[in-house]
Amino acid sequence: MYQIILIRYGEISLKGRNRSRFEDILISNITHALKDLDYKRISKAYGRIYIECHSGWEAIVAALRRVFGIVSVSPALKTELDMDAIKQAALTLMEERSNTTFKVKARRPNKHFPLDSMAVNQEIGGYLLRSFPGLSVDVHQPETELTIEIRNEGAYLYHTAIPGLGGMPVGSSSKGLLLLSGGIDSPVAGYLSLKRGVTLEGLHFHSYPFTSDRSKQKVIDLAQILADYTGKGEMPLWIAYFTEIQKALQKSRYPDLNITLMRRMMLRIATKLAHREGALALITGDSLGQVASQTMESLYVINAVTTMPVLRPLIGLDKQEIIDLARKIGTYETSILPYEDCCTVFIPKNPATRPHLEQVLAAEAQYDIEALVEEAIAKTERITVSNTVRIFS
Ligand code: ATP
Ligand code: MG
Repeated sequence: MYQIILIRYGEISLKGRNRSRFEDILISNITHALKDLDYKRISKAYGRIYIECHSGWEAIVAALRRVFGIVSVSPALKTELDMDAIKQAALTLMEERSNTTFKVKARRPNKHFPLDSMAVNQEIGGYLLRSFPGLSVDVHQPETELTIEIRNEGAYLYHTAIPGLGGMPVGSSSKGLLLLSGGIDSPVAGYLSLKRGVTLEGLHFHSYPFTSDRSKQKVIDLAQILADYTGKGEMPLWIAYFTEIQKALQKSRYPDLNITLMRRMMLRIATKLAHREGALALITGDSLGQVASQTMESLYVINAVTTMPVLRPLIGLDKQEIIDLARKIGTYETSILPYEDCCTVFIPKNPATRPHLEQVLAAEAQYDIEALVEEAIAKTERITVSNTVRIFS
C-alpha cells in the first residue's frame, strides 16, 4: 500500500561541509542494498532520502535496515495538496490502527497551503473519529501518531518510524584492517567499526595444517556475514600464512610468553600490510581483562610493536554483551562452530598474564623477526568475500 519510504539519517546531517559527501555515500550504499529490488527512484530533499516504490515496500524496508547511517524509515503515502486527498490517505493509513488511541500531528513547511497545522489536525482528526468508532484521542501518549507533512510537492502521511542501524555510512571513514579470528569477538569488533563508517578489510592468520581448511572457511563465512553490512555487499579478506611463525614459536625458550609473542607477530604483520594497503588503523576484538593476552600489561607489551592506532571497539564490553551483539548481527552461530583457531592449538599451559617488555624482548632475541614477518607477508593472499557469491577473485 505504501508508495514512498522516508529515510532519516540524523547524525550525518550534523557534519557541516562534509554533509553532501556523506549523503552521496549513503545514497550509494542504499542503491547497492536495493540493487535486486524493484523501486522507481531514490531522491534526496530536506535532509532526507526518499524512495518511491511500486509495491514490495516490506522488502525495501528490510534491506534498508542493514544500511549504516540510517536512523529510521517511515513507509508513507503521498498525496496532492488537497484536503480530500489527504483525508482519503489518512483513512487508508488508519484502517490498520482503527482501534487505538491517536493524535494527528501536522507540519506545514509549505506556508501556501490554506489551512495551518492546527486546522489540519482538527479537520483530519475529526474526520477519522467519525470514520472509526474504535478510535479515541490521546494527545499526550497516543498509541498511534499520524504525521502529516505538507510540503511544496505534496503531502506525506505516515504513522510509523522503524529504527535503522544508526551510525555513519560505511565508506565515510578511511580504511581499517580488522584482525579477524574465528572467535566471537572480532566479527563484532568489525561490525562496530563498520557502524562508524570504517572502510573495512579483514586479515586472518591461518596456520595450515595445524588449523584446518574448515577453520579458514569459518572465517570466510564470518567475513561473508560482515560483507552484508559494508554497503557494497563485499569485503576484502587477507589470509596470512602463519605456520612458519607458529613452528618457530614452538621452539621458544619462554613458552609462557608464546601468546604474547604470537600477538606481537600478528600486529607487526598487520601493520606492514596496513601501510602497504593504505589502512590507517588496526582493529581487534580485545576486551579488557577477558583472557591472559588482554590484561592491561599484555596489551601494553603487544601494542609496543606498532605506532599505528589499534582500535578495540569491544574494550569495555562484558562477554555477555558481546555475545548478545554477535547474536543480533548474525555471526554467533558461525563463531561457535568448534573448528580450532591457531591460538587454541598453540596455547601454553600457563600463559603469562603480566608479561614484561624486557622479558619479551629477550624471548624474541632468538628469532630473526624481520625475516619471519617478510615471509608471512610474501605469502599473504587476498580474497574478496561477497554476501551473495561465496568467494571470487
Ligand atoms: P576472538 O573471539 O575475536 O577470537 P578472543 O576472545 O578469542 O577473540 P584472542 O584469541 O585473545 O581473543 O584474540 C584477541 C584478538 O586478536 C581477536 O579478537 C582478533 O582481533 C585477534 N586475533 C586472534 N587470533 C587471530 C587470528 N587467527 N587471525 C586474526 N586475528 C586474530
Ligand atoms: Mg580467539
